[in-house]
Amino acid sequence: MTRNEELFSRAQKTIPGGVNSPVRAFRSVGGAPCFFASGSGARVRDADGKEYIDYVGSWGPLILGHADADTVRAVQEAAMKGLSFGAPTEAEIELAELLVRRVPSMEMVRLVSSGTEATMSAIRLARGFTGRDAIIKFEGCYHGHGDSLLVKAGSGLLTFGNPSSAGVPADLAQHTLVLDYNDAQGLRDAFAKHGKTIACVIVEPVAGNMNLIAPKPEFLAAMRELCTQHGSVLIFDEVMTGFRVGPGSAQGLYGITPDLSTFGKVVGGGMPLGAFGGRRDIMEKIAPLGPVYQAGTLSGNPLSVAAGLVTLKKVGAPGFYDALTAKTRTLVDGLAAAAKKRGVKFSAQSVGGMFGVYFAATPPTSYAEVMASDKEAFNRFFHAMLDAGFYLAPSAFEAGFVSAAHSDADIAATIAAADAIFAAG
Ligand SMILES: *Cc1c(COP(=O)(O)O)cnc(C)c1O
Repeated sequence: MTRNEELFSRAQKTIPGGVNSPVRAFRSVGGAPCFFASGSGARVRDADGKEYIDYVGSWGPLILGHADADTVRAVQEAAMKGLSFGAPTEAEIELAELLVRRVPSMEMVRLVSSGTEATMSAIRLARGFTGRDAIIKFEGCYHGHGDSLLVKAGSGLLTFGNPSSAGVPADLAQHTLVLDYNDAQGLRDAFAKHGKTIACVIVEPVAGNMNLIAPKPEFLAAMRELCTQHGSVLIFDEVMTGFRVGPGSAQGLYGITPDLSTFGKVVGGGMPLGAFGGRRDIMEKIAPLGPVYQAGTLSGNPLSVAAGLVTLKKVGAPGFYDALTAKTRTLVDGLAAAAKKRGVKFSAQSVGGMFGVYFAATPPTSYAEVMASDKEAFNRFFHAMLDAGFYLAPSAFEAGFVSAAHSDADIAATIAAADAIFAAG
């Protein structure tokens, strides 16, 4: 038994499934998960001492790579001054000011401790602001594990949803309408039928939780227009895309101004931190200013804020995203070219520092298309890459991430390894 396998069987005795978040269990790809012992730059080392080039980056936060020296130092310095106060600190203001400067749609922002908290709070705020209960989300988009969001489409077109998890009351799920991603007409139809009752539309402006699905520009534009027309709040869930796809996040990249935005992952630089913010008139409805309650004992935690500040300052360097985008594109172009040369049905694409690889002839544009990709082929590829020392997300339905710490040589080695795997069939 490997040390990973030993740890996995021990973990399963006290932790459900042996993991503290389900996708880590490798259920989708099979086998024992890697238990990581350490990480540095683009590399992680598992409990067996095997080293991998990492394309997960803790599911997105580690845009500077593992254990970035400046981030670690800032966290250490903050820790020496106190781990938590449950009272305001000056650093929180600095982070809030930086966020509203980088993301012009945000006039005010509140810090929380996870992406889930950010989306749950933004939805409550949208409901409180509009006085409406219904929300629209899109199939395949993930917005954390809040009750209103663990919902799948209802039986007929334009009918409200059913819980996708046990424990979510059907009474709550029936306020969530689940539509198809990239289907502008479906959205128009939904607003025509239910417009007056829709509190908000929440969307991943680039979908990254059903592998990567790029938005059609007309989809995001229609969403903006319909929300404005019907007095509904447009929420861009940028927990994954925030400071990952460009300096102004996805809203900057596509030139769409949401009413509220949610952040997590990169904004905390690897520490637990989320944020939600937007229009001042909406944000002023939150307690203590307004009637929408939201709070957190560890919100704005000094260590998380310190990590977030350093990370956002470093990604603000001139040319940071040009370099990251180019490097990520080199990776996906190289993988696609290798597959083509070897006659493998495969495609790949990237947006900024996130990417998708698909065992399908062309990159999917919808949930149905991505579900039709060859999952077994992905699983074989995943395990072959893992053996070769490359850690990809352990599921065909997750996006991948490149960090500033990945070198050109790392990228070239990854393409060469994939080429060898494609060649072997
Ligand atoms: C990861 C993610 C979340 C949830 O964030 P957590 O920090 O895991 O709670 C929400 N929305 C999107 C788009 C995400 O990618």
